[in-house]
Amino acid sequence: MNAPPRTAGALRPAELIQKKRDGGELTDAEISGLVLAYARDEIPDYQMAAFCMAVYFKGLSHAETHALTDAMVQSGETVDLSSLGRKVVDKHSTGGVGDKTSIALGPVVAACGVPFAKMSGRGLGHTGGTLDKLEAIPGFNVELDIETFLAQVREIGIAIIGQTGELVPADKRLYALRDVTATVDIIPLIASSIMSKKIAGGADAIVLDVKVGDGAFMKDLDSARELAQAMRELGDRAGREVVCELTDMDQPLGQAVGNALEIREAMATLEGEGPPDLVELVLGAAAHLLALSDLGVDAREGRATAEAAIADGSALALYERWVRAQGGDPALDALPQAPVVKPVLAQEAGHVQRIATTAIGEAALGLGAGRLRKEDDIDHAVGILCLAKRGQEVAAGDVIAEVHARTEESVEVGAAEVAAAYRIGPESPQDVPIVLDVIA
Ligand code: URA
Repeated sequence: MNAPPRTAGALRPAELIQKKRDGGELTDAEISGLVLAYARDEIPDYQMAAFCMAVYFKGLSHAETHALTDAMVQSGETVDLSSLGRKVVDKHSTGGVGDKTSIALGPVVAACGVPFAKMSGRGLGHTGGTLDKLEAIPGFNVELDIETFLAQVREIGIAIIGQTGELVPADKRLYALRDVTATVDIIPLIASSIMSKKIAGGADAIVLDVKVGDGAFMKDLDSARELAQAMRELGDRAGREVVCELTDMDQPLGQAVGNALEIREAMATLEGEGPPDLVELVLGAAAHLLALSDLGVDAREGRATAEAAIADGSALALYERWVRAQGGDPALDALPQAPVVKPVLAQEAGHVQRIATTAIGEAALGLGAGRLRKEDDIDHAVGILCLAKRGQEVAAGDVIAEVHARTEESVEVGAAEVAAAYRIGPESPQDVPIVLDVIA
């Protein structure tokens, strides 16, 4: 591990905010000074929030994005995975609603014999975070130190942990700040946030799932491609192999939205009983990761190997070993359950035309599945099951969703929000594949 450098010299954050606000381009030294000072707690949140908002309106050049990413990486330690003697893979998503892919994908890949080492984040805005989901598992510890992280990847083939305080501390603070200051959906900030963690995390090859659609930070394919290219470029600069998948987030992924509910769905996927869109995403990403690994297989062979690991139970067995290694109880019935469950009924007959995905994410947030302020606790048991997905035909009165809540009052609010998020109409909508494009 390499120790973080420190910057010298007086820094005037207000001047840098003003320069960016007025459309100027910051130098490498200015970006690096700002980010490293923020990481050391020498700049208050309000100034960094103002800087992020200036970036929201004025953007960052390629050079600024590179400098930002380098500074984020330098703000902390970096992990050297070379002692594992293997090509290590990782996966990251730009954030969606109901995205539990990594929790199923990691054990599948590890069961195929490929080391999977991932540092993950918490929920951001209306999207959930892998760490929050994992913490729904009683006892699961996401705060392993780097030595333990390495030892676990060596022994079991998988570890997923939070960014330790030593790893990209600048992003840890910034990520939480952006979450509560409406400064998440900014391409250079997302690209540098994700890639700094991936670079510092040490993996050699990475699949990036860039979500596109209503529930994603990227609302259309063009901006998703822009983000994908920005992240590939940052990966190339750092000598990492990156494959980007652009995937549909115009409806929640799978059925479950909410931490413990999503763990159940990830487990069902490992048992071969996952919802089709999630299964496809897991197998597609596994195929890319296995092809990028040192197994010497192509993507088609990789996919077949991943399918076999699910079919023969080895992926589920590996999940259980992994969860135990991180202190968790892998039993399905150990997961918390919400005390109040209310079905949501179709108001009319027809096909589900669309599910307003951000609205579903926000309804889950309102139930307590995510944070409204960065210091909030979350309720791991609550959430939503979107049982009817886009294109499904329903009769009036059919159960289209379920709301899992803590109180009678919150279940009513949640159910009304979920009902409003569903649009049912006469025509069958156009079929949209889960993987929209791959940039390799
Ligand atoms: N995921 C991240 O890790 N960072 C972002 O900025 C957005 C999504």
